[in-house]
Amino acid sequence: MDYGIKTWGNDNFFIEDGKVKVNTGCEPSLIEIIQEIRRDGIRGPILLRFPHLIQKQIRMIYKSFADAKKEFGYEGNFSAVYPLKVNQFPNFVKNLVTLGQKYHYGLEAGSKAELILAMAYNNPDAPITVNGFKDNEMISLGFIAAEMGHNITLTIEGLNELESIISIAKDRFGCVPNIGLRIRLHSSGIGIWAKSGGINSKFGLTSTELLEAVNMLRDANLLEKFTMIHFHIGSQITDIAPLKKALREAGNIYAELCRMGATHLRAINLGGGLAVEYSQHKTTLHKNYTLSEYANDVVYLLKDIATQKGVHEPDIFIESGRFVAAHHAVLIAPVLELFSQEYTDQKLRPKEINPPLVQELYDLLGTMNRKNALEFLHDSIDHMESLLTLFDLGYIDLQDRSNTEILVNLIIKKAVGLVADKKLSEILDIQDRVQERYLVNFSLFQSLPDFWGIGQTFPVMPLDRLDEVPTRSASLWDITCDSDGEIGFNTETPLFLHDVDIKNRDYFLGFFLVGAYQEVLGMKHNLFTHPTEATIIIDDDGYSIENILESQSISDILEDLDYDIKEVQENLNDRIEASDIISEKEKKHILGEIYLFLNDNGYLKTINNEDNSQ
Ligand code: PLP
Repeated sequence: MDYGIKTWGNDNFFIEDGKVKVNTGCEPSLIEIIQEIRRDGIRGPILLRFPHLIQKQIRMIYKSFADAKKEFGYEGNFSAVYPLKVNQFPNFVKNLVTLGQKYHYGLEAGSKAELILAMAYNNPDAPITVNGFKDNEMISLGFIAAEMGHNITLTIEGLNELESIISIAKDRFGCVPNIGLRIRLHSSGIGIWAKSGGINSKFGLTSTELLEAVNMLRDANLLEKFTMIHFHIGSQITDIAPLKKALREAGNIYAELCRMGATHLRAINLGGGLAVEYSQHKTTLHKNYTLSEYANDVVYLLKDIATQKGVHEPDIFIESGRFVAAHHAVLIAPVLELFSQEYTDQKLRPKEINPPLVQELYDLLGTMNRKNALEFLHDSIDHMESLLTLFDLGYIDLQDRSNTEILVNLIIKKAVGLVADKKLSEILDIQDRVQERYLVNFSLFQSLPDFWGIGQTFPVMPLDRLDEVPTRSASLWDITCDSDGEIGFNTETPLFLHDVDIKNRDYFLGFFLVGAYQEVLGMKHNLFTHPTEATIIIDDDGYSIENILESQSISDILEDLDYDIKEVQENLNDRIEASDIISEKEKKHILGEIYLFLNDNGYLKTINNEDNSQ
């Protein structure tokens, strides 16, 4: 009933009075925040940002490394940069930069556009690191950043980039960025994002290339600019062991390079990878270590290697993004419909003489009790299969078929209610067979692309009714016209939701930990755009809803695809004007409607009835 909130929630949310509440300040419930936003007429999915959760993650990182440094008497410095690729949305980045100011928290860029952002927003005195493939223009941008006074390190992915740096340094104004070398480790990561490490990875210099790079730098009189080595074994490192192995390898490379005369080499950049616990179930945890364990291991291992090899203890850089960004955003989406909601007994149309199996379904429904519930449920599902075959063979008619569907659904509802308090293992099989489909007003492709792309799961739970036992095994359907837009019921990690009548009562689902990667990877499948977003600031006296940014309108999204929106509008107008099925007055009315549609977003608004707009 708590949807594993203690496992994935990081103490950020808790349940009280049947509602999910935010664990800070005045502790508002998510449902009251959403209802307040909706009071202004906003509908569809809404992404809530909580800046205090960005602050919490940044604070935890710096504190854990400060504690580890103290514990082991470590002499190197600790720095962190936020990799922009994880979430570049302004209402996230601007908050992050402000909140990170006192730590000199920096930014990492992996493209020209991200570098421009870093140059424009990075905190003074905070580092910038640049990774990824670079052409001459991107390298020149790095020089411009250095010329502006930024503390920037360009990390070289291949020797050709180093050649470009050497050549550009000759042509510019004497101010050269720091240079990092990305090392190609033998060690690789673990999990679905492990491809960034290992000898066959896309990035980094081999040992031979490293030696060559040092010689090139020495020959160009730029060895003093070589300050950092960098590696990244993949995002969401689920197990600490591969990281420790990679650290040993990187630490030894660092020591060897220092001993070879890289006099200004001072830092090891571990890249990102700190994992987030996404699991709602204790049996399927997504990581096996804590942040302080990570910090202690990093500091201890690097100290150990430096001592063994007689080199100075390196400064430590990390580029963890997922860990910093994931927690801050929650997507709230209204449930629009329960698939079985239309199956009510009012819709039954019994015949004077029903076919025997249909009559038996009536009897099963009427006589079902707690003791026989599962048996009757099995029987009813078997009967339904037989009745559908009879329909295909022409022995029963559409009305019998409709009665069958309604009766079986009524039996399912009654049975799951009767056995709700039984052990999950006893009823899991049947729950799998009697899933309820919840149609949810969001696009999985836009808001949870990693679920679609690589099967990454995210915690999901209703925002209220948490003091009532959820009885329905749920599969979630999004509103795209694509059957991949579904989070199916999984008996390993089952999701149960409440049996709600959406016509009479709202029911919202929260998708948590969606602040990392999901927003920018989101696809405009079916032309559903980034959802409406709002930033929630909470203190002891109350909360405020700021920076509401409504989801793009249909006009905007068509323009993004390079449609000439005037042409679209003119085509529509001409076709309406030319219609001879409607009157002039009706045409005017329709033109007004079209105008409103074009200027609104494409998520669903009303379903079932006007009063219950979603
Ligand atoms: N640094 C580099 C070089 C990366 O490629 C990535 C992402 O894959 C990161 C940092 C961020 O990783 P994460 O979000 O897992 O911390």
